[in-house]
Amino acid sequence: MSNYEVVVGMECHAELLTNSKMFCGCANEFGGAPNTRTCPVCLGLPGSLPVPNARAVELVVKAALALNCQITPDCLFSRKNYFYPDLPKGYQISQYEDPIGQKGWLDITLSSGQTKRVHIRRVHLEEDTGKLIHAGGNESEVDYNRSGVPLMEIVTEFPPDLHSAEESKLYLEKLRAILVYLGVSDGKMEEGHLRAEPNVSIRETGSDILGTKTELKNLNSFRAVERGIAYELVRQADLVQSGSEVRQETLGWNDAAGKTYHMRYKEEEQEYRYFPEPDLIPLHFEPSDIERWRAELPELPDAKRERFITSFGLRPYDAEVLTSSKPLADYFEEAAAGDVDAQQIANYVSIDLMKLVNASGIDIAAVKITPSALRELIQLRDKGDITNNIAKSVLEEMFKSGRSAQEVIDSSGIKVVSDEGVLLSEIDKVIAANQDVVAKIKAGNDKSIGFLVGQIMKATKGQARPDLVNKLLKERIG
Ligand SMILES: [Zn+2]
Repeated sequence: MSNYEVVVGMECHAELLTNSKMFCGCANEFGGAPNTRTCPVCLGLPGSLPVPNARAVELVVKAALALNCQITPDCLFSRKNYFYPDLPKGYQISQYEDPIGQKGWLDITLSSGQTKRVHIRRVHLEEDTGKLIHAGGNESEVDYNRSGVPLMEIVTEFPPDLHSAEESKLYLEKLRAILVYLGVSDGKMEEGHLRAEPNVSIRETGSDILGTKTELKNLNSFRAVERGIAYELVRQADLVQSGSEVRQETLGWNDAAGKTYHMRYKEEEQEYRYFPEPDLIPLHFEPSDIERWRAELPELPDAKRERFITSFGLRPYDAEVLTSSKPLADYFEEAAAGDVDAQQIANYVSIDLMKLVNASGIDIAAVKITPSALRELIQLRDKGDITNNIAKSVLEEMFKSGRSAQEVIDSSGIKVVSDEGVLLSEIDKVIAANQDVVAKIKAGNDKSIGFLVGQIMKATKGQARPDLVNKLLKERIG
């Protein structure tokens, strides 16, 4: 496989966080009984007329600005004509020739620490379709609650910049973070609010010639995107190496089997007969509108990461992890507002707390430990009231119950052993049992002290004060 590299173009759709739909007053809300949020406009009934949602237009302009796009001052809505039961009008109102945003980019940080710029071809505004529900047997049902929900499409530049499954995942993660920071999308892939469709082809490493691409549909997690692309690289390379051809087709992803599967062949680009939407006037943006919206943009992940490095002194990697999601960044910042070393807070949040969050499957926003309670835990450890290891078990208990660190410590009877008499008796036992190690230390091998400290911690069930153990041990060995 090392002879081949994958080339990925990414199309993403994000449902916008507006109160109402794109061209009518129906509520834009997830869930609800089927067909309860509909009206003549979003059902496509004859004689109904669309009225654009100004907030949706503003959100797309802001997203385009955040993605470093040029804003098209005058742009049209167009009709994209095709028939499908989830599209009652027989056309989708979209944008074709002049999307709101063009020629943008975003930067991703690769695992090597290097930055890679991913160019964006267009950002446009359209409406979502309804949803088909395959009820089993020969029956399909259709729910039009989603019909007409404002939808933003973000398409990467051609030829594509993304050359691996990992880069593709990093791009999506960054894109999602930006959209969530902006309040444009909730970023929920599992609910279909953010949908990614990678176009995947392969080529010989170093070649400029692009191969035939396949399009992956129905990917509802970052992991599925990464695995689906990696699978296609292997599948397509196998085909080429065995003398067969890659066919242009649309593929689904079976997450359980870890395989793509055939959905339909795409022999040529479908003819959508785009034409300007006659029921809507063109959009026009004054430079002053664009500048006002630009000024309203919140601090975005890259700027926040730089600030975390400069004002909190965080390591770049930690700053990258903590700013990867807005709720996580907010949590860290609130915890770091008190009198504790910010890097210590960063370690606890990005490693220990995130481990618990990921294992439980909850969202960081739903964590019961408040940022100030986390800070209090670290302060207790810094004072020497608890050891590092105990602090970690206290954190787990706080995560489960939402109690404060002090409450957990008081109720569990955890007490750090700082009685020198008790510690010395343990130290003497360990020294007696490990004369060979003691000899090494005396011969100048300082690293072996760690082994003895470990033995003492074990004997005291991790409750001995480590700094005191170190001090007494060194005095004892002399
Ligand atoms: Zn409606």
